[in-house]
Amino acid sequence: MRIVVLAGGIGGARFLRGLQRASPEADITVIGNTGDDIHLFGLKVCPDLDTVMYTLGGGINEEQGWGRTDETFHLKEELAAYGAGPEWFGLGDRDFATHIVRTQMLSAGYPLSAVTEALCDRWKPGVRLIPMSDDRVETHVAVTLPDSGERRVIHFQEYWVRLRASVAAEAVVPVGAEQAKPAPGVLEAIAEADVILFPPSNPVVSVGTILAVPGIREAIADAGVPVVGLSPIVGDAPVRGMADKVLAAVGVESTAAAVAEHYGSGLLDGWLVDTVDASAVERVEAAGIRCRAVPLMMSDLDAAARMAQEALTLAEEVRGA
Ligand code: GDP
Ligand code: CA
Repeated sequence: MRIVVLAGGIGGARFLRGLQRASPEADITVIGNTGDDIHLFGLKVCPDLDTVMYTLGGGINEEQGWGRTDETFHLKEELAAYGAGPEWFGLGDRDFATHIVRTQMLSAGYPLSAVTEALCDRWKPGVRLIPMSDDRVETHVAVTLPDSGERRVIHFQEYWVRLRASVAAEAVVPVGAEQAKPAPGVLEAIAEADVILFPPSNPVVSVGTILAVPGIREAIADAGVPVVGLSPIVGDAPVRGMADKVLAAVGVESTAAAVAEHYGSGLLDGWLVDTVDASAVERVEAAGIRCRAVPLMMSDLDAAARMAQEALTLAEEVRGA
């Protein structure tokens, strides 16, 4: 079975680990979000691609959900001693090596998709990981700064990591997405997929950014295979992080049903909500999307594997319908 998954960082990566456990024989292609990418200290950092690569490759800091295990921060301390910022983005020594190799290869002319493949040669994530695009796309957020009352557009990482989404996101813009082309292999993988899954990743700044690359949304809608998603919103709040802030920016309430409607029946055939949101099933089905309520907390690998199995079961139900 060929499965395509559109993934952000932590939610995507933990789900993928469950999917590998649930379906060890599957041929999995991951289309990764690159809207979070940022240049720091002259290096290209791809947080979501790396979270997937490290998680599936056994190098992730499990408690944190991002960054390397056994990490040290000498380089960051030395940079801070020079007053070289930003200090709010936590890059560890081991992690730096990834960004150095990536930047070196990009400077030599390799596209990001080839660089990602090369990095995965080391990590062997067991999936084919492709960035959504080789073109530069950067998510920006419009905010009003609380101190000055000044309206500013800032990089997503500054909004998420430095400000911790403490102010309202007035707009979320994937800058460059309109001109971006899907990376080589993305449209082919979608066209050849048997099932397409949206893990419980952020619907706006992870899955939404991938869908903003012209051609990807259309290819998924036209694939003619089951498309099933899992809600990142449980009990009317994100399980982790501040997804409610970016959902508000696009006018979507933080409920499992509203997120399903936001994707819409043109894209989604099936949607899983958590058992605490069982009352949302009716509303999602009324929107033309087959819906089931099952446990959606990835408390451990087995729980994530059961979620993945439920998603595949729903996909088969949709296919047979
Ligand atoms: P990021 O790029 O690291 O922010 O990760 P993603 O976009 O892939 O996933 C973030 C989303 O995952 C958040 O909106 C969380 O609500 C969701 N999430 C994290 N853990 C869980 C979980 O155990 N269950 C569910 N249903 N969602 C989760
Ligand atoms: Ca992310």
